[in-house]
Amino acid sequence: MKLPILVYHKIDRIPPGSRYPKNYVTPEQFAAQLAYLARHGYTTIGFPDYLVYRRGERRLPRRPIILTFDDGYRSTRAIALPLLRQYGFTATIFLVAAYVGKTNLWDADEIQEPLLDPTDIREMQETGIAFGSHTATHAHLAALRPVEVLRELRTSREQLGALLGKPVTVLCYPYGEYTRETLHFARDAGYEAGVIVRRRMNTDTTDLLELRRIPITSLTSPGRFAWDLFRLRWFHGS
Ligand SMILES: [Zn+2]
Repeated sequence: MKLPILVYHKIDRIPPGSRYPKNYVTPEQFAAQLAYLARHGYTTIGFPDYLVYRRGERRLPRRPIILTFDDGYRSTRAIALPLLRQYGFTATIFLVAAYVGKTNLWDADEIQEPLLDPTDIREMQETGIAFGSHTATHAHLAALRPVEVLRELRTSREQLGALLGKPVTVLCYPYGEYTRETLHFARDAGYEAGVIVRRRMNTDTTDLLELRRIPITSLTSPGRFAWDLFRLRWFHGS
């Protein structure tokens, strides 16, 4: 079974002066992408569904896909959620534990955007949206000392677990940066899955702590979106 996982950041108009305009996908682009997925028979699943499948305990729908959003911007609720619901789709959002309810303080040179607060998160959880950890402070994990890496992974898992009322099982490495060691620490800290950025699908043998995600940006044309999903399914075996 091939599983595509998509990664988005902000679903919003690109504000003038943005340093990283690629991190935006406009509401119109996003709506068109969801319409494409619906039209082609995709069903959104969550990471728990996939983990159960990988243990051999359950089947997946014919065309499963996981939609993910990094950083937890408030626009995910205001703009993306209504569109997701229109198609009956779900998603997983990776939160930066120490900045919940604040702004993207880790990129000080970028326009500051509000992040989801605890109320947003609980209300979204009730509608079926899932959450994972994007560490405590959006840290460069590969550059930290082991004790600091473990602290980032553990404190975020504890704080978010308390907020969500259930264990956090999925980790998203900030900036896509990680090493072999990071993967060991992730497992030690209690994560069952981790996500990276790589333009590939996941197969039944992909390491669960290195699940690949296809980046979707403001430059992703409708043709590119469709072509990536097609070509990665049929032409890239592993
Ligand atoms: Zn991030």
